[in-house]
Amino acid sequence: MSENDQTNSETEKSEQERNERHKKKAQKQKEKVDASIAKATIERGIVIVITGNGKGKSTSGFGTVARCVGHGYKAAVAQFIKGQWDCGERNLLEANGVPFAVMATGFTWETQDRSGDIAAAESVWQEAKKFLADPQYHVVLLDEMTYMLGYDYLNKQEVLDAIRNRPENQTVVITGRGAISELKELADTVSEVKDEKHAYRAGIKARKGVDW
Ligand code: ATP
Ligand code: MG
Repeated sequence: MSENDQTNSETEKSEQERNERHKKKAQKQKEKVDASIAKATIERGIVIVITGNGKGKSTSGFGTVARCVGHGYKAAVAQFIKGQWDCGERNLLEANGVPFAVMATGFTWETQDRSGDIAAAESVWQEAKKFLADPQYHVVLLDEMTYMLGYDYLNKQEVLDAIRNRPENQTVVITGRGAISELKELADTVSEVKDEKHAYRAGIKARKGVDW
């Protein structure tokens, strides 16, 4: 056997051993995953809170709405705060039968009108409450709603109760920074989006079709 042949067969052997080890590890992992999947037996809608300072909260919420509509279920969206922007998701989803309740007053630091903001928040909330009481909606997105509770623009107890008492199979997604603790406690799933880096801080402008 030449030196080369010997090296080749050693390499083959070690490849084979790696494959064997991989297979054993994967089998063990599959057993674990299967066991934990078998434990999840409850069927009901959930409350998802997507909070934190990083980018990706609203896109996650709208992604869930798109999933829902893509399966032929109904979804509804209430947008608090930023509805005055031309919104790509709204253009797409409204055309696909998703109702939107939109505050359309812009940022608080732009309006500088607290009582006007509260009235606008209240009027979107009245629409959102109807979505939350309607079992035809598989998913309800409350985009940027965390601020309404953080600023005390809406009655906290009323909002929490409406979410808690929603139809059993309805899922609610709430987005926005600084979710209050009561909201996180009520939620089944809470994700904190961490801001590690943002293009904006490198001077890159928010882009249509990417950021809205
Ligand atoms: P997106 O809608 O892109 O998922 P988001 O919902 O997580 O973002 P918001 O706090 O609602 O974030 O901010 C809305 C806008 O601000 C978006 O255009 C988003 O790209 C931008 N943005 C999000 N996070 C940051 C950040 N850390 N620094 C600067 N701009 C941000
Ligand atoms: Mg957002």
